[in-house]
Amino acid sequence: MAKTETKSRNPVKKKKGMDLTTKIFVALLVGAVLGVLIHYFVPASYIRDTVIIEGILYVVGQGFIRLMQMLVVPLVFCSLVCGSMAIGDTKTLGKVGVKTIVFYLCTTALAVCIALGTALVINPGIGLSMDSIQKGDVTVNEPTSVTTTLLNIIPKNPIGSMANGDMLPIIVFALFVGIMLAKLGSKASTVSNFFSQFNDVMMEMTMTIMSVAPVGVFCLICRTFANLGFSAFKPMLKYMGNVTLALIIQCFVIYQILLFLFTRLNPLKFIKKFFPVMMFAFSTATSNATIPMSIDTLNKKMGVSKQISSFTIPLGATINMDGTSIMQGVAVVFIAQAYGIPLTPANLATVVLTATIASIGTAGVPSVGLITLAMVLSSVGLPTEGIALIMGIDRILDMLRTAVNITGDAVCTTIVCQQENALNRDVFNKD
Ligand code: ASP
Repeated sequence: MAKTETKSRNPVKKKKGMDLTTKIFVALLVGAVLGVLIHYFVPASYIRDTVIIEGILYVVGQGFIRLMQMLVVPLVFCSLVCGSMAIGDTKTLGKVGVKTIVFYLCTTALAVCIALGTALVINPGIGLSMDSIQKGDVTVNEPTSVTTTLLNIIPKNPIGSMANGDMLPIIVFALFVGIMLAKLGSKASTVSNFFSQFNDVMMEMTMTIMSVAPVGVFCLICRTFANLGFSAFKPMLKYMGNVTLALIIQCFVIYQILLFLFTRLNPLKFIKKFFPVMMFAFSTATSNATIPMSIDTLNKKMGVSKQISSFTIPLGATINMDGTSIMQGVAVVFIAQAYGIPLTPANLATVVLTATIASIGTAGVPSVGLITLAMVLSSVGLPTEGIALIMGIDRILDMLRTAVNITGDAVCTTIVCQQENALNRDVFNKD
C-alpha cells in the first residue's frame, strides 16, 4: 500500500508539449466553441445530426464516461478495503467518518442558506413571463423515506449492491472487510495482497483512461453545446445567474476560506491543481464517474492520503452535493415566486433541512438533483410541476453544480487529512 502511495508515475507528464491539464482545458474550450458554431451555422442534416452529433460525438463521449464508470465500483471497493486495512483500528476510522459526515452536512446546510439568501435578494421568479419558458414533462418518483434510506446503507447482498453501483452499502461492506483483514493480519495475507495488487491495477487503469480525457471531454462538450442553443436560456437568465452566483460563492469563497482556516494551504494552488477534475465533472455532469480521477489527483498532486480519500470521496459523491442543494434552494424561491406563493421563515428553515437530507443516499449521476427537488418542493407545499419550468435549461446548471459537488468533497478530504496528519504538504506545495 505504502509503495503505491509514494510511487509517482505519470506517463502523460513525460510527453513533450502540453500537459494533461492544459489539454483538457483546451479540449473543453474548443469543444464548446465548435458546438455553438455547429448549432448556429451548420444547417440541420442527416450528416450533422445523426452522424456527427448523435453518432461520433455521442459514442466517443459516452464511451469515455463508461470507461470511467467501469472503474468506479472495483476501484472504490479495493481502495477502501486497503485503506481501512491500513488504518486498522475502528476508532480512527470512526473518527474520520464522523468528522467527514459532520463536515459534509454543515457545508450542505450552509450552501442552501447561501442559495436562499441570494435568491431572496435577486428574486429570480419575479417578472417572469411563463409563456416564454420551454416546459418539460415531469414524472415525480415517490421519495424514499428516511428510515429506508438509513436501512439501505446496510447491504442485504453486497454483490447486488456492487452490481447496482450503490455506493453507501459498498462503502459499509468494504470497510468491514478491511477491518477484518487488519484483525486477521498474516492469517489472511493472501487476500490482503490480492486487494493491494488489484488496487494498483485499478489505479494504473485510471491513469491510462485519463490520458484520453481530452478527447472524451471534447466530444461531450461539443455535443452538449451543439444540441443546446441559447434561445431557452433567455427567459431563465435571472434564475441561471442566481444559481451560478451562489455556486461561485460556495466554491471559490466558502470552500477556500474553510481550506485556509483548517489547513493554512494556499487556496489558489488548490484550485489550480484540482481544476482538471472540476473540468471533468463539468463535462460529464456525474460525480460518480469523477471518483477515480479525484482520488488520483488528490493523492498525486496534493499529497492527500489515498487511505482517507478512498473513503471520503466516494462517500461525498453520494451524500455531499452542495452544488445540487444550491440549485434546489434557488429553485424553491424561483418556483414559489413564479406561482405567486409566499414563503414563510419556517418554510425556509424546512428547505434547509430537506435539501440537506435530499442529497443523502442519491447517486451522483446527471439530473438526479431534479428528482430530489420534488421532495424539497413537497416539504413546503409547492407544486412539483414547477420542476417543468427549470428542466429545459437544467443541463448546463447540472454541469456547473457537479463541479462544485466534487470540489466540496475534495476540500473536506484535504481538511480531514490535515487533521489526521495524513497530508503530505511537500507534495501539495510542489509545482
Ligand atoms: N449531476 C450531479 C452530480 O453528479 C447531481 C445533480 O445535481 O443532479 O453530482
